[in-house]
Amino acid sequence: MLLLIPGPVQTRPEVRAAMAVDIAPWDRDFTPEYAGIREAVRGLAGGIAGRHACLPLQGAGHFITEAAIRTFVPAGAKLLLVMNGTYAERMARLAREAGRVVVPLVVPDDRSVTPAEVAAALEADPEIGHVGIIYSETGSGIVNDVPGVGAAVRALGRRMIVDAVSAFGALPFNLAEQPEVDAVVFTSNKCLEGLPGIGFAICPIDRVEACAGNAGSWSFDLSDVYATALRAGWGSFRFTPPVQALHAFGVALKIYQEEGGQPVRLARYRENARLLHEGIIALGLRPYLDWQHQGPIIVTVYQPRDEGFVLMDFVEALKRRGVMISNFYNTPAPTMRIGCIGDVHADDIRYALHAMGEALDELGIKRRNAA
Ligand SMILES: *Cc1c(COP(=O)(O)O)cnc(C)c1O
Repeated sequence: MLLLIPGPVQTRPEVRAAMAVDIAPWDRDFTPEYAGIREAVRGLAGGIAGRHACLPLQGAGHFITEAAIRTFVPAGAKLLLVMNGTYAERMARLAREAGRVVVPLVVPDDRSVTPAEVAAALEADPEIGHVGIIYSETGSGIVNDVPGVGAAVRALGRRMIVDAVSAFGALPFNLAEQPEVDAVVFTSNKCLEGLPGIGFAICPIDRVEACAGNAGSWSFDLSDVYATALRAGWGSFRFTPPVQALHAFGVALKIYQEEGGQPVRLARYRENARLLHEGIIALGLRPYLDWQHQGPIIVTVYQPRDEGFVLMDFVEALKRRGVMISNFYNTPAPTMRIGCIGDVHADDIRYALHAMGEALDELGIKRRNAA
């Protein structure tokens, strides 16, 4: 099966094969492996030894995002959230349920926020200490200008939390050049092409130390993850880890480096996105975003206007042809989501477009353009 979904992504056979072992997480053969993964991942974020720490947490991306919010935004404090898609809404819910005050900055979901919009919102409310932003909005497919917005946040003396879950590894990010960032968060899955199971936050150490006691949760306290590393070593865990997924992630990182790292992965995904965007139009369908706003992670497409079109029937027809696309959408208008990330290459996209044409014909969908 070819997974064209924005997570969990298609992985390489070597990565999946690495799962097939039993490992004790505290085994002296494994702890250096884990410590090495933490260092490698910190390096990918532009983090510097002694200044930045890689603080992992077991579980899904939402968990590491919640941990970053709880650790760095004090209870009752204000967090400006750039709202241009469904993952921002999710971040808002995580923050509100943790007792943080969300100030929404609503932006249409078919373009990125401008640094000026963020600056104006921050100037209007001096009580806002933090900005939360989604780097790649996996709802619509847009990319927010994280370096540009970060510069505005920095100039106004505020702090930032970046959800880079669907961006990290493909879109550039450099923590050393963005000192306003308290945490950039991402997972083992998505653009680093590992298996799901663990999230990472890369954070400035002085901020982690200054924020001890904020979290109001033991499980979600990144300063406790840091304290544990100091006490028990960087190869240690607080709770049982998805140790096989970590071991496989080490293999995925090696493949990532061998492929050429971030620029090469970005180029591959961008080519996937370009082929999809073009091919979708050639099929008579209409992409949700104009090409100028289209990010390289996911292409969202309007559902055909044909009355006979049912998303789940289309998903099943594609599945019979070996292709899996997302079974839900989260834009205001009915759309379908096709991922460009994972171990997916130009020929896979060409095949998927061919399969989509066949599936539309099989289902008798004639009115395809939603415009
Ligand atoms: C996938 C994703 C997440 C996390 O999803 P989980 O299902 O919790 O792993 C968070 N933010 C963005 C932008 C994502 O694409």
